[in-house]
Amino acid sequence: MGSNLGEVAIVGAGIGGLTLALELERRGVACRVFEATASIGATGVGINLLPHASKELAALGVLSELEAVAVATDQAVFFNRFGQHVYSEPLGRFAGYDHPQLSIHRGDLQAVLLRAVEERLVPVRTGTRCSRVRPVPGAVAMQLELADGSTEEVTAAVAVGCDGVHSTLRRQLHPGEGPPKYSGYNMWRGVTRWEPILSGAGMIRAGWLTRGKLVIYPIRHDPDGDGRQLVNWVAEIAGPIRAERDWNRAGSVEDFIAAFADWHFDWLDVPAFLRGTDLVLEYPMVDQDPLSFWGRGRITLLGDAAHPMVPRGSNGAGQAILDARHLADELAARGTTPEALRSYEKQRIAATARVVLANRTMPPDAILGEVYERTGDRPFARIEDVISHEELAAITERYKEIAGYSRRLLEAEGGGSPRDGTAISTRPSGGRTEQMG
Ligand SMILES: Cc1cc2nc3c(=O)[nH]c(=O)nc-3n(C[C@H](O)[C@H](O)[C@H](O)COP(=O)(O)OP(=O)(O)OC[C@H]3O[C@@H](n4cnc5c(N)ncnc54)[C@H](O)[C@@H]3O)c2cc1C
Repeated sequence: MGSNLGEVAIVGAGIGGLTLALELERRGVACRVFEATASIGATGVGINLLPHASKELAALGVLSELEAVAVATDQAVFFNRFGQHVYSEPLGRFAGYDHPQLSIHRGDLQAVLLRAVEERLVPVRTGTRCSRVRPVPGAVAMQLELADGSTEEVTAAVAVGCDGVHSTLRRQLHPGEGPPKYSGYNMWRGVTRWEPILSGAGMIRAGWLTRGKLVIYPIRHDPDGDGRQLVNWVAEIAGPIRAERDWNRAGSVEDFIAAFADWHFDWLDVPAFLRGTDLVLEYPMVDQDPLSFWGRGRITLLGDAAHPMVPRGSNGAGQAILDARHLADELAARGTTPEALRSYEKQRIAATARVVLANRTMPPDAILGEVYERTGDRPFARIEDVISHEELAAITERYKEIAGYSRRLLEAEGGGSPRDGTAISTRPSGGRTEQMG
């Protein structure tokens, strides 16, 4: 039995687990990371880091490395399914935050975090799947299944389940929890190498879930040296659930292209763009009801293991990163004790439950649902006759408040003071934003 009674055992080397390791190292708290997969590869497609998350990553000294492989997202742009402009607003530094919103390949984000962990700490132990954690006097004992089929028991002061949507530790703590909740929408994701679209750095959302909604944003400039970008896309359509949740499940363009067949806009030929994809992944839009507790004794949960949410607000990675900051603060202040874990849970459980619930009903794309309802899914003459700019802005502002990254909140923490010269106008002009094209 390996014994490290003062250490934090981190189960899972995803975004949350690796960030926690860096946060602990910064505070001088010993930890080790155990990862089920045999090697950490470039899995997934695009992911977004909002300013509250990039602020934490800046404090960990990895922001410039991330910026080198990401796109600093400049604006959110909304269209209906006829390609008519509904609303735009600046994002990240372009909206006056001190820290950027970054659109990045999940594999690139994980690779930057992993490199920092392995430079500053011991290597992540890959090929070690945690199958159970049990309390022992003053510690926990973790059962590990190794890649060669053998098992090993490791003790640590506390265990943190950062093991994602299929969390073993969550199942152990909540054995009676039912299956994930299906939102009624399936999701297909992919990346296409394409000429820059509109500003070349915007997050574009178009259409509505009932008939088909598309989210498009670039995650890498010029990957092939020919001026094109790696552009992430997500298609979401209402329908019965098609498959279990599995981040790596392959899908096919033919399964959803019909919903977008007539989307030929002056700013993008959507069918051609979707058919040009490198790969298609399929995932149901599911989440789980907020838990009543995240741990007992010397065990707790973090990130998707604690609060899986439907991916509609660009917040999955961000909330995991915020969890890591709070948990590391508590472990540094109170020692590797059950009290530290309970105090962390108290700070984060209600805050993240609000985000899970807001993602169901009022994420930023609720703007498009509102326009869909008010227009009866028909083209409009002037968006101002359908909904005011102020109402549209209020929808996104409400979400930022709940998710903890409104300018007001970050400025109160000293992390979001306005900057001069970078802001983009939020007012549409002539049906388009000024900086498009
Ligand atoms: C393969 C993969 C691809 C993804 N692709 C996308 C994407 O394209 N877009 C997007 O928005 N989000 C994606 N996500 C989810 C996204 O990373 C998370 O929503 C978010 O970053 C929160 O991170 P997390 O650390 O809580 O979970 P994750 O980043 O999911 O990390 C969980 C980690 O725990 C490991 N693990 C699981 N069980 C065990 C166990 N029993 N013992 C040890 N280790 C274990 C997993 O292998 C994984 O490395 C993906 C997740 C995974 C695992």
